[in-house]
Amino acid sequence: MNIHEFQAKQLFSQFDIPVPRGKEVKNPVAAEKWAAKLNAPVYVVKAQIHAGGRGKAGGVKLTKNRDEVPGLMKEMLGKKLVTHQTGPKGRKVRRVLIEEGAGIAKELYLSLLVDRDSGRPVFIASTEGGMEIEEVAAHTPEKVLQEAIDPAVGFQGHNGRNLAFSLGLPALEPSIVNPFIALLGNLYRLFMEKNASLVEINPLVITTDKRLIALDGKVSFDDNALFKHADVQAFRDLNEEEPLEIEAAKNNLNYVKLDGNIGCMVNGAGLAMATMDVIKLAGSEPANFLDVGGGATKETVAAGFRILLKDRNVKGIFINIFGGIVRCERIAHGVIDAAKEVAIKLPVVVRLQGTNAEEGRKLLQESGLKVEVATDLWEAAQKIVAVTGKKRKKAEAAA
Ligand code: GDP
Ligand code: MN
Repeated sequence: MNIHEFQAKQLFSQFDIPVPRGKEVKNPVAAEKWAAKLNAPVYVVKAQIHAGGRGKAGGVKLTKNRDEVPGLMKEMLGKKLVTHQTGPKGRKVRRVLIEEGAGIAKELYLSLLVDRDSGRPVFIASTEGGMEIEEVAAHTPEKVLQEAIDPAVGFQGHNGRNLAFSLGLPALEPSIVNPFIALLGNLYRLFMEKNASLVEINPLVITTDKRLIALDGKVSFDDNALFKHADVQAFRDLNEEEPLEIEAAKNNLNYVKLDGNIGCMVNGAGLAMATMDVIKLAGSEPANFLDVGGGATKETVAAGFRILLKDRNVKGIFINIFGGIVRCERIAHGVIDAAKEVAIKLPVVVRLQGTNAEEGRKLLQESGLKVEVATDLWEAAQKIVAVTGKKRKKAEAAA
């Protein structure tokens, strides 16, 4: 789960990570009042969406004139921001943060995430803050520094000193070294206590008056640990989440929307990934990742169908089930029942393997539904691509 910048900054404050004075403001009148209270030399009005790159897209506005604050906010609310992270459709601004502007001497990059290779939390830092870290990594990889933390020992002073010295902070601003190390420790505490999967501060700034401030904040949480954190759950903003993903979560389905036109219903995450790969290999693109779970029932299949059919991009449905714990004839019944409930006008290819696969195929073939049945994965993928049309160019598919 992701949260807004203003929420991340509330969390930062709780963990003694310095942030600008600021708050979410609901309307221009409140903005006027808050700006008066801030009484700052510079005001920053920031669009709150679950995507970065707002600065370049007009989602971050600075003004020295307090009277301009409500107007800037009004302009921003309801606007569609298109950034490299929103996709071409953009994202509507529904919430706004207003804070005191900082005088920037230097922008740093800092994040903490789980490194899957070492299985450890790792800090990533760079003196090239403010821009996309992917760009820095692509062009000047030597400027992206890492410090892995042994989770059994926790964050130690030497971890902080390592990072501070390799960044060259003592030469840049010696008075910032100790606050920086303290900030790393606090960030680590936040990360572990709240079961975060990513915390990113870009930029972490050294101000002209030599303070260290988190000017931006992004925090993602491990969904599997959310039940432990009512405070984090309260940050949830469903407006920022994919409606179909919300509905899928209600039905305990593991669904991720994608951009292709073949709706996939698969049991097991590994098989779901293999299914997406094989669709691409056959020259098309999956419309989603959908894992109905190892113990899929008639009901989950029906819920899965409803979700797939709500996606207007979907031009065909590919059901790929391996009967291990699930029995294939149950899935077949699920498909037949769901077809009665929701009129399925789209072509459907079903591949069943494993327990009672034969029986399941027979049920489907005799159901009178317009369903193509397959036994082999490659054959099934080619069938669904044949009826939905190739999306990928040959060269791309081969790459
Ligand atoms: P993002 O573009 O979505 O990552 O939004 P950020 O919160 O990182 O803001 C983008 C950029 O706006 C920052 O890198 C800064 O250069 C600038 N910015 C944001 N807040 C301030 C501020 O208080 N003072 C100054 N001078 N610049 C700011
Ligand atoms: Mn940023």
